[in-house]
Amino acid sequence: MKHRTYFDNKQLNYIIENGELSEAAQMLFELQCNDWQMCRDNYEQLKNVRLKEFRFGSYKIKAQYNPGRLISTSAKVDPKSIQERKCFLCEENLPPEQKGIIYKNSYSILINPYPIFPIHFTLTNLQHQPQRIIDTFPDLLSFSKDLSKKFTVIYNGPRCGASAPDHLHFQAGNKFFMPIDDEADLISNEFGEIIIDNEEIVALAVDDGLRKFLHIESANENQLIKFFNHFYKVYSDILNESQEPLLNIISFYDSEFGWRLIIFLRAKHRSHHYYEQSDKQILVSPAAIDLGGVCIFPREEDFNKLNEELIKEIFSEVFIDKSLLDKIIKSLNHII
Ligand SMILES: [Zn+2]
Repeated sequence: MKHRTYFDNKQLNYIIENGELSEAAQMLFELQCNDWQMCRDNYEQLKNVRLKEFRFGSYKIKAQYNPGRLISTSAKVDPKSIQERKCFLCEENLPPEQKGIIYKNSYSILINPYPIFPIHFTLTNLQHQPQRIIDTFPDLLSFSKDLSKKFTVIYNGPRCGASAPDHLHFQAGNKFFMPIDDEADLISNEFGEIIIDNEEIVALAVDDGLRKFLHIESANENQLIKFFNHFYKVYSDILNESQEPLLNIISFYDSEFGWRLIIFLRAKHRSHHYYEQSDKQILVSPAAIDLGGVCIFPREEDFNKLNEELIKEIFSEVFIDKSLLDKIIKSLNHII
């Protein structure tokens, strides 16, 4: 592991050089909250956000009323709007107070100043290049391993949740903040269909009534990459996609068991509620954190309207349907 820091801070440099990345990231967070008032205020405000919890049998979905996320939730991500704005992840456009830790000479670990997690990072590539998982999947794995002591790492596809689809980035946040970090094994036991199960790798397809996803576990990086590449091809073929098929990933690493990946299989970025007029409109843009069980609502009027039925409606629209999931299972079985 090789890191360089923008900070000239002896203690931070020492931690980085000794290879405990999640400790270094935590310290970066503390230093930034000391030096950067807007960042500190936003994290302070997060402690007072309103939460609701909805139960769906054996699992739960939380809702967070978070006005700080309005810009991100309502971000215009069409190519024209993207082209017309300055990229907010490029180094020259970062706020002057923002500093980071360089990771493997290709990414910068930055504090997200508009947080959802109690500690929330954006892991941005140093180059301005499109959001794309097929050749950066190994980076997702290594980030989640290196940050695993404290954090979970997520990926949002360029057409289903990434607010900077033109600049490659992952995010990281506190482990077990999203209910799925705790509940995935339980959910998959109850609702999963096994695709592969051998000594090296286990993969299941899951339809829990709200979400359709793949659950993959392995301690072997090469096996994971191989399986992901198979899946990516199958998924693209079935959806007849030339661009990246719609997906979000949560990568959770445990030093004893290895990686556990949740790959959400998406049909749409936003449900029809987003596009309704006046009081029918609900501003919600489901991405990995929402689907992992913490749904973000930046407007209070939307948050107040929530009930189980509405959550179910929003979720069922943005996932692929059961027949597509069955096709994916069949094709993956066939290849393996
Ligand atoms: Zn950029």
